[in-house]
Amino acid sequence: MSKNMIIAIDGPAGSGKSTSAKLVAQKLNYLYIDTGAMYRAITYLAMRRECLNEIEKVIEIAEKTNITLKFENGITLVFADGEDVTEAIRSINVNKNVSFVSKIKEVRAALVKKQQEMGQVTGGVVMEGRDIGTVVFPDADIKIFLTATIDRRAERRAKEYEAGGTHVSFDEVKNNLLNRDIIDSSRKESPLKQAEDATVVDTSKVSIAEQVELILDIVKKKNKTK
Ligand code: C5P
Repeated sequence: MSKNMIIAIDGPAGSGKSTSAKLVAQKLNYLYIDTGAMYRAITYLAMRRECLNEIEKVIEIAEKTNITLKFENGITLVFADGEDVTEAIRSINVNKNVSFVSKIKEVRAALVKKQQEMGQVTGGVVMEGRDIGTVVFPDADIKIFLTATIDRRAERRAKEYEAGGTHVSFDEVKNNLLNRDIIDSSRKESPLKQAEDATVVDTSKVSIAEQVELILDIVKKKNKTK
């Protein structure tokens, strides 16, 4: 196995990326990096400063804020200049605005640079997002693209909200996912798309344990061919 193995997991919201990426990282004892959390943090800060519509200010936030991620007890703790924004970045309002922020070229450039630096660790990394296999680490050792039907994805997200004590209707969740899919896949800068050399895993009908096994099998096969 190479010294710094990079596993890139991309796919739309609710496809099971975070859940399976975390578990794969734990099994392999790799560092887990949730890049969506970084776009969410910038969005949250811009909302709080009421400057979402002022692109220059949003870019400045992305370039100047020190975003750090710490994975602890199964949760990605997110800090912006030392402030814990872990919960705030998961709000419905952040969900509604994040795709507009992640469309901005300079915001992406600033965050991609940070993600590439984060990937330079000894040992392995599992990084999940939308453009990891295409832009952040085009030479990743393993590229997985997760998909699932829109209803399955919305069902998962709605359940996550319920578990967190917030009721959001299935239709609202589904519409938010569909909107984000459209914006994320059609944007000019590094859109959500499957890398040509990625392996597609459809998670619509498989359990979390099965998703993790499927990914670990791909890793095992890849290591055998090295
Ligand atoms: O993964 P998550 O749903 O938390 O991502 C939130 C948003 O961040 C996505 O809808 C997308 O707009 C943006 N994102 C991105 N590139 C990534 C990760 C997330 O554009 N690598």
